[in-house]
Amino acid sequence: MARRRILYEGKAKVLYAGPEPGTLVQHFKDDATAFNAEKRDTVEGKGVLNNRISEYVFSHLNEIGVPTHFIKRLNMREQLVHEVEIIPVEVVVRNIAAGSITKRLGVEEGTRLPRSIIEFFYKSDELGDPMISEEHITAFGWANPQEIDDMMSLAIRINDFLGGMFAAIGIRLVDFKLEFGRQVENDMVRTILADEISPDTCRLWDAQTNNKLDKDRFRRDMGGLVEAYREVAQRLGILQENEPIKTRGPVLVK
Ligand code: UDP
Repeated sequence: MARRRILYEGKAKVLYAGPEPGTLVQHFKDDATAFNAEKRDTVEGKGVLNNRISEYVFSHLNEIGVPTHFIKRLNMREQLVHEVEIIPVEVVVRNIAAGSITKRLGVEEGTRLPRSIIEFFYKSDELGDPMISEEHITAFGWANPQEIDDMMSLAIRINDFLGGMFAAIGIRLVDFKLEFGRQVENDMVRTILADEISPDTCRLWDAQTNNKLDKDRFRRDMGGLVEAYREVAQRLGILQENEPIKTRGPVLVK
């Protein structure tokens, strides 16, 4: 059997060429990194959980008409996705102050923001993902004004949907990061949601206790990362209590 062609390897995922033109296989690794990869570790089972949680979120987004790259899950660690050209802008939506905004603006962690706030960051490991404005995005040609509009309106719809989805299972959606891509179909280019939505890319707090159920457990050396991600998956009803998640090899699912 031929070795698969790696098209891109990131901190937590690998992209392989897909079975058909215009498709890719997105593989979730167990690697965890933070602070621009200065802190790194392997957390067994994380990739399996993120694959399942992201599958759940993306398939629901597809159902409500938010265009995404997700086609189907292939196995414990992999999903089939549409190939896109990634827009080099990270779109962060915040509902409650946490993380970088607390330091940048001196807002206390946990403060409910006056309204949901969208921020943009330039995707660049070298520069440590600096915060940017729409002006930078259009001036440097990273996205055009239509694409910025598309990203913002999709981000608002996704925030409404995710906020409700998590509220229903006793979780507060504090903030999250999105990445979008350009999908070329015939002569048309459209903006679709790409990457992943998981506890690696969201801040999720238990509504009763404010217990952190996300990657801050890793960033802050709190431990219990896999247990927290498992809790999210169980509350969403996508993982049974004793379902194994610690497998490394690909396991085919129908
Ligand atoms: N985030 C992410 N990838 C990044 C930066 C941020 O997924 O490269 C997510 C992060 O998990 C959080 C949200 O985006 O849910 C806002 O992150 P923030 O700007 O507060 O930065 P951080 O505190 O993670 O450095």
